[in-house]
Amino acid sequence: MDNNLSINHLTISYKRKIAVQIENLIITKNQLTGIIGPNGAGKSTLLKGMLGLIPINRGEVVYKNQPVSRQLNKFAYVEQRQEIDLSFPIDVFGVVLLGTYPKIGLIKRPGKKEKELAWSCLEKVGMADFAHNQIGELSGGQLQRVFIARALAQEAEWIFLDEPFVGIDATSEKIIIDLLKQLRDEGKSIVIVHHDLHKVRDYFDQLVLLNKQVIAFGSVDQVFEVDNMKKTYGEEIAEMLKLGGK
Ligand code: ADP
Ligand code: MG
Repeated sequence: MDNNLSINHLTISYKRKIAVQIENLIITKNQLTGIIGPNGAGKSTLLKGMLGLIPINRGEVVYKNQPVSRQLNKFAYVEQRQEIDLSFPIDVFGVVLLGTYPKIGLIKRPGKKEKELAWSCLEKVGMADFAHNQIGELSGGQLQRVFIARALAQEAEWIFLDEPFVGIDATSEKIIIDLLKQLRDEGKSIVIVHHDLHKVRDYFDQLVLLNKQVIAFGSVDQVFEVDNMKKTYGEEIAEMLKLGGK
């Protein structure tokens, strides 16, 4: 059985304008995969389209010989922070407990088993002390950790995160990437949309370079080089990469 995530002939448009078009892409399981590209490249669109959160015009996304849309419980999604309503009255524990809902259904209330699972997930991300804080009281980094805990409570095999490091401090970023690496080592497959080129080598096992279409895909060593970056970001990037010494 094929355990990878396979994207076939995928097209996603807004009105008539194509945002992403991918003929064939296979994201291998149990890796930390970065989807990298400039603003407007279609990274968020691709993530949402893969998870059926926005309509696709054509194509399919398949995991274990089944469309992803029919097994969404195996996929967790951590949206961009600006898309989250932080004034919504829910505490940290409540958010993590939501992760257990796909398993129990919307009718049944979470019981002891679900609550214990939610606690252990909060502990795993080091946020148990904040269980009864409202989500609006958290820093950006703490919030990301809570959403990762929700993904763990869902017992998702794949965790998709959209720009998780935007607007958070370096210490939190380090905590989060270490946590994601640990989860990868424990068997999860992690896909991160990311636009900052610093630390790409440190963070990812493999990269999808995206600019409306796939410019390159492969291990970081194969893909992260100047010609590919020029094709993805334009000529100016070459200078920046030199200046950055990366
Ligand atoms: P990225 O995440 O790489 O910055 P997006 O996926 O957000 O890129 O956007 C890709 C393109 O689609 C951009 O040109 C953007 O303006 C457009 N777009 C994104 N969302 C919408 C929307 N809801 N309606 C119309 N156009 C959109
Ligand atoms: Mg985006």
